[in-house]
Amino acid sequence: MRTTLKNCQRIVIKVGTSTLMYPNGNVNLRTIEKLAMVLSDLCNEGKEVVLVSSGAIGVGCHKLQLATRPTTIPEQQAIAAVGQSELMHIYSKFFGEYGHTVGQVLLTRDVIDYPVSRKNVINTFNKLLENEIVPIVNENDTVAIEEIEHLTKFGDNDRLSAIVAEVIQADLLIMLSDIDGFYDSNPNENPDSTMFTEVNQITPELLALAGGKGSEFGTGGMLTKLNAAERILKNGGKMVLTNGNNPSTIFDIMNGDLIGTLFATKNLVKEENTR
Ligand code: ADP
Repeated sequence: MRTTLKNCQRIVIKVGTSTLMYPNGNVNLRTIEKLAMVLSDLCNEGKEVVLVSSGAIGVGCHKLQLATRPTTIPEQQAIAAVGQSELMHIYSKFFGEYGHTVGQVLLTRDVIDYPVSRKNVINTFNKLLENEIVPIVNENDTVAIEEIEHLTKFGDNDRLSAIVAEVIQADLLIMLSDIDGFYDSNPNENPDSTMFTEVNQITPELLALAGGKGSEFGTGGMLTKLNAAERILKNGGKMVLTNGNNPSTIFDIMNGDLIGTLFATKNLVKEENTR
């Protein structure tokens, strides 16, 4: 099954704030540059690459030299507006070093709820990819907030990346985290935990290993990653969860090496093994 990843053509890569920023709040230029190099080289190989990137608020706090992250929504939206353009500036610079152009795509849930919006989004992605431009995607934080009447927010970027993969019919979603993969318990709490190399189905038992719905770990962390994986599996796609600290492992994943946790349905595994 892993070797079939070589054939994936349209790839979405999701990167979280923990990969883009140091714990001290500074921007991790080394990792961002490596990521830009790896993704540029995949484009050179002829792959279509889409990057879903968090980090707008983190980079915004850094740019505005804020020691703590403000708590009100308007403050966070204003910081995200500063951070998003700064983040795009950094990406544009590094991708530019490797000969590639980036395009900013900011989305809200309209892409799910309104077919016309969805179509427009697909057209934009297709045109960017056709022109070998790397779309860099984030939620539109200025517009998207939690409202009952008008739900514009995706919730989290793990989910956003799964939705993007679904909308543009990507062959693979690579989710970069601060951990090597999905384990049978939290490795930061239990050093004896074992990593799953392959998961074929998201069961309640697996969800419980991620902290379980509604528990104190019920937001972010592994739960949002498993929910994203469930969405991917439902649509017959594939997802690899791996550590973002060394972006060149993306080359190894694309080469079929046993890195991170692969999420793919059993049928898909069987079907592709018989090809
Ligand atoms: P990111 O910011 O990279 O998106 P998160 O910090 O939200 O990632 O989630 C990754 C964290 O989830 C890990 O560092 C780990 O502490 C925690 N975690 C909880 N349960 C598990 C598990 N079963 N396997 C792996 N990590 C787990």
